Amino acid sequence: MEIALESSVPIYSGGLGILAGDALRSAADMGVPMVAVTLTYDAGYFYQEITPEGYQVEHDMEWDFSNDFERINERVQLNIQDKAIIIEAWRYNIIGRTGHIVPVILLDTDLLDNEPWQRKLTHILYDADKFQRITQEMILGIGGLRMLDKLGYNNIKTYHLNEGHAAFLILELLKKYKDINQVKQRVCFTTHTPVRAGLEEFDYNLAKDVFRSYLPDNIQDYAGKNTLNMTILALNFSRYVNAVSKKHLEITKRMFPNYDIDSITNGVHAGYWLSPYMRNFFNNEFGRDWHHNLALLRDAENLDSFELWRTHNKAKRDLIEYEKSHSWILLNDRLLTIGFARRFAEYKRPLLIFSEMEKLAKIIKGKAQLIFAGKAHPADLQSKSLIKKIFDFSDYLWNSYQIGVVFLENYEITLAKLLTSGVDIWLNNPRRYLEASGTSGMKAALNGVLNLSVLDGWWIEGYSISNGKAGWSIGPEPSDPNAEKADDKVDAVDLYQKLENEIIPLYYNNQDEWREMMKQAIKLGAYFNTNRMVEEYARKSYNLIKQPLWKSQNIGF
Ligand SMILES: *Cc1c(COP(=O)(O)O)cnc(C)c1O
Repeated sequence: MEIALESSVPIYSGGLGILAGDALRSAADMGVPMVAVTLTYDAGYFYQEITPEGYQVEHDMEWDFSNDFERINERVQLNIQDKAIIIEAWRYNIIGRTGHIVPVILLDTDLLDNEPWQRKLTHILYDADKFQRITQEMILGIGGLRMLDKLGYNNIKTYHLNEGHAAFLILELLKKYKDINQVKQRVCFTTHTPVRAGLEEFDYNLAKDVFRSYLPDNIQDYAGKNTLNMTILALNFSRYVNAVSKKHLEITKRMFPNYDIDSITNGVHAGYWLSPYMRNFFNNEFGRDWHHNLALLRDAENLDSFELWRTHNKAKRDLIEYEKSHSWILLNDRLLTIGFARRFAEYKRPLLIFSEMEKLAKIIKGKAQLIFAGKAHPADLQSKSLIKKIFDFSDYLWNSYQIGVVFLENYEITLAKLLTSGVDIWLNNPRRYLEASGTSGMKAALNGVLNLSVLDGWWIEGYSISNGKAGWSIGPEPSDPNAEKADDKVDAVDLYQKLENEIIPLYYNNQDEWREMMKQAIKLGAYFNTNRMVEEYARKSYNLIKQPLWKSQNIGF
């Protein structure tokens, strides 16, 4: 449903799209024969303005994708409510480091030949309107397959559904092959959602209205009794299903005990997410080959401490420069800087660090400053109110204590790169086990930024293989039977404790040890990258290779 191609191409909303983009960038680098399908979204995912009072205002992105994409002269049709809709396609090429191309096909209904309501179907990403949503997913799944056939991709061995949104592809494959096993042989599915309420589902009345006679009579046997559930549809027709971290696998098995599910832990594209300074530093220290052989990052322990520190501080200076031109609060590049940026959602608990304001002020005054960023979905009023609260806290802490707390507007790739490389600490405190994996912490680690995070998603693995030397945990370990129930209070107390007694003293009084931890963080990049991840998909999900190229048991920790 979303792929983050470039900062200037606003057709993604968050982690799911970033992951898809990084996976395709690695697939292109590694020569994996692959083609991706998504929609054009001519109004994009919105531009976030924050008013001086702290309210989020959404603006359509007026962008002209004919500058970014190349038009393909092929059309396919799809019936919605028994009316034909014409779908056109555009192409964006992802070119790997060795020249291998992974094309991305973008579907578009904004054509003069379509009726006005049909032209708007590929307008915005994650429209809150259910009719828009189900029709977009028909365009993606059914229109996508028809377009691939039309473009001559007729020897596809595996259709990989990245999250449930694309699962209507299965209905089209059923029409084509008329046999469940024929379909099942061809489909793989990755689930990203660890809560039932978060699964994409549609009312059967709506489905019947839009699909009409196309919908199989026995759809309820495949897609859920009461609602058409895209995850259940995908689970029932996939030869291989995976979750995106080990903990997420555990949670997914609990949700769907009757299915065979594996896990492939997410990663990030290392070359893409490193600051330019760190990239040069790696070129010098590891040799240029590290791009193709990320296992070399295991040698991060041997990096020059002083150069590493200098390199990090160049990225930090860039971030603070950016901050100064985007906020009236002036941050100080000599202070410990803590970053928190991701989609705004209640379960990610962006306000946790403000639980006890006076205590926080006492701990960080003169010592640390905070930078926040993130968009709330336009229909999610609760999450929007969290942004407003951070603004109010920021005013209070600045006026009363001269503590800098800044919210930077319009979180997207460029800002994410500045933040994940330029802060000193990456804060992540979701409510347990609601973060399937998370990837922003991996970007931070790769750049030598230390994670301070609840043990959830990828960090359970990252914290454990680095023996707790690449950052800090917040709250109980997963082995604690009460961990899942740990309340905000318990986590906040531990967060303050770590900041006051461990992190701040270490940063100011033991820089050698801090730099050793930075090296351990970079070392995690040897594993938490999309080259390793795509290799695992190629082997376990796509059946493209038989032997592991990557010895995950032997990453040298
Ligand atoms: C990496 C990234 C995300 C995902 O962040 P999480 O903390 O893993 O949820 C979201 N948005 C942008 C712009 C990103 O770069």
